[in-house]
Amino acid sequence: MGGGPAEDGRGAGPGPAPVLRARGLVREFRGFRAVDGVDLDVAEGGVHALVGPNGAGKTTLFNLLTGFLKPSAGSVLLEERRELAGRSPEAISRLGVARSFQITSLFAELTPHQHVELALASGTGIGWRFWLSDRRLGRFAGRAEELLAQVGLADLGGVPAGSLSYGRKRALELALALALDPKVLLLDEPTAGMGVEDVDRTIELIRKIRAGRTVVLVEHNMNVVASLADRVTVLQHGRVLAEGPYAEIRRDPRVITAYLGDAHAER
Ligand code: ADP
Ligand code: MG
Repeated sequence: MGGGPAEDGRGAGPGPAPVLRARGLVREFRGFRAVDGVDLDVAEGGVHALVGPNGAGKTTLFNLLTGFLKPSAGSVLLEERRELAGRSPEAISRLGVARSFQITSLFAELTPHQHVELALASGTGIGWRFWLSDRRLGRFAGRAEELLAQVGLADLGGVPAGSLSYGRKRALELALALALDPKVLLLDEPTAGMGVEDVDRTIELIRKIRAGRTVVLVEHNMNVVASLADRVTVLQHGRVLAEGPYAEIRRDPRVITAYLGDAHAER
């Protein structure tokens, strides 16, 4: 292979440079290739959905982009300059690429307000490494309130997080990711397990918070993809099966076959 990704990153075609550019991404688990040579360009300012049948490699790809897994091969360039592959999640988050929290990382006894203050104080939003005095955290109280209001939790900032409904916990995760003010926000199945009402609320919320940033979304619910995504990449067996605007993707016979195959397999 001549020339690394840093050299051929520029001038690779018309249009603005992608904010994220993955090339030849591979992740093996004991010889099994969950992600098998993925190229992905994520345009700045858009909502880019990663879809595909169960087991297609969406979550693995997501984890490769955010540093939660190291690639077996390949490269992920941020703004054509910085190689993300091999960096820690904290380092990637500090560079402005953040993922939403997992519910399991919430503390039942702490309030949403305290969670957001800690995320603002930590600056990486990942892990709760240290505790600050109330006085030092107080600096972030105003911003925490704004973020809670943005995700519809203004009235619930003071209750124990453990008492929140599932949908509200997911909203809190979003507030924690937004606390980092990321350039690129990655969301893995933000509507998974939600009822219709929470799904609609989450769609509205993502519409609001996408302003001024790029969103990468792993999403199983095609209504959510249709409502939000500018571009869609379809994965199957760890590879890119198709890519384009949703309106094109939904009519692509290969995509229809992949989904029907998956639906049959699940029965
Ligand atoms: P998706 O999110 O599209 O449903 P995943 O990325 O979770 O798919 O998984 C893709 C494939 O990789 C699946 O076959 C899954 O079983 C396998 N896989 C994912 N994570 C691991 C792991 N930690 N160890 C072994 N196999 C894994
Ligand atoms: Mg998944």
